Amino acid sequence: MNLTPLPAFQDNYLWLLHDGPSALVVDPGDAEVVLSGLRQAALRLEAILVTHHHADHTGGVAALREATGAVVYGPAGEPLPEPCERVAGGDQVTALGLKFEVIDVPGHTAGHVAYYCADAGGSPLLFCGDTLFSGGCGRLFEGTPAQMLHSLDRLAALPEDTRVCCAHEYTLSNLRFARAVEPGNEKLIHYQQACEQLRARGTPTLPSTVSREREVNPFLRTREPAVRRAVLACAGAVDGDDEAAVFGALREWKNRFR
Ligand SMILES: [Zn+2]
Ligand SMILES: [Zn+2]
Repeated sequence: MNLTPLPAFQDNYLWLLHDGPSALVVDPGDAEVVLSGLRQAALRLEAILVTHHHADHTGGVAALREATGAVVYGPAGEPLPEPCERVAGGDQVTALGLKFEVIDVPGHTAGHVAYYCADAGGSPLLFCGDTLFSGGCGRLFEGTPAQMLHSLDRLAALPEDTRVCCAHEYTLSNLRFARAVEPGNEKLIHYQQACEQLRARGTPTLPSTVSREREVNPFLRTREPAVRRAVLACAGAVDGDDEAAVFGALREWKNRFR
C-alpha cells in the first residue's frame, strides 16, 4: 500500500492510497490535482472517501467521479454532490480490498466522519479530515465542545501506531500554541524542532501517529493537570471539573492566539 499526501490550495492534503493500479482518494477538494497524481502513477481511481461537506474537501468530487467512475462515500446528513453512498458511525466501507470502519466525529461539522482501517498492510490508517490535526483540532463550526471532546477521545483510543492522516498542514502553527499551553513538555519541544526541519525542506509533517498526538496535542491532553491549570489561568470563569468546559476554553484560547 502506498500513501501519498497530494498538496492542494494553501495547506490541504488530498490523501491518495493505492495498491497496484487501483487507488482511492480522501477529500478531493481539487479534481485536477488528483487527476494529475493518477496520471503520473498510471492509477485508476476506484473510490472517493469524504469526511465532511466543506468545499475544500468536496470541490473536486463531481468532476473526479465523472472522469473516473469512482464510487463516492460520504457522511449521511451533510450536503454532498449526488450520487453518493451515505455512511455513518459503525458502517464499513470496502475499497482496494481494505475494510474501513466509519467513526462519527461531530464537532467541526455536525455530521463529520472519520475512516479507520485496522489492516492496511502496515500500521493502521486513520483519515480524520478536519477533526484532529497534528498538535491541534478543527474549529467548532457546527458542534459543541462536549461533542468534539468525545470525538477526539474516540480517535485517541485507537491503536498507538495508527497513522493519522490529517487534511491540513497546520502543524507548526498548532505547535506554537501547544508550547504556550505546555511550555515544559519535553516531547513537544523535540517534536516542534523535528517538524521545523521537515517544513524547511518542504516535507509534510504528516502522517502523525496516535501515540505522538497523545504526547504533544493539548486538545487530547485537557485532563492533564498542567494543561488544565494553563487553561484555567487563561480563562477565569471556567469550572475546572467540567471537562467539556475546559476543552471549550482551550479551543477559545486557540481561536484568539496569534
Ligand atoms: Zn472543514
Ligand atoms: Zn479543511
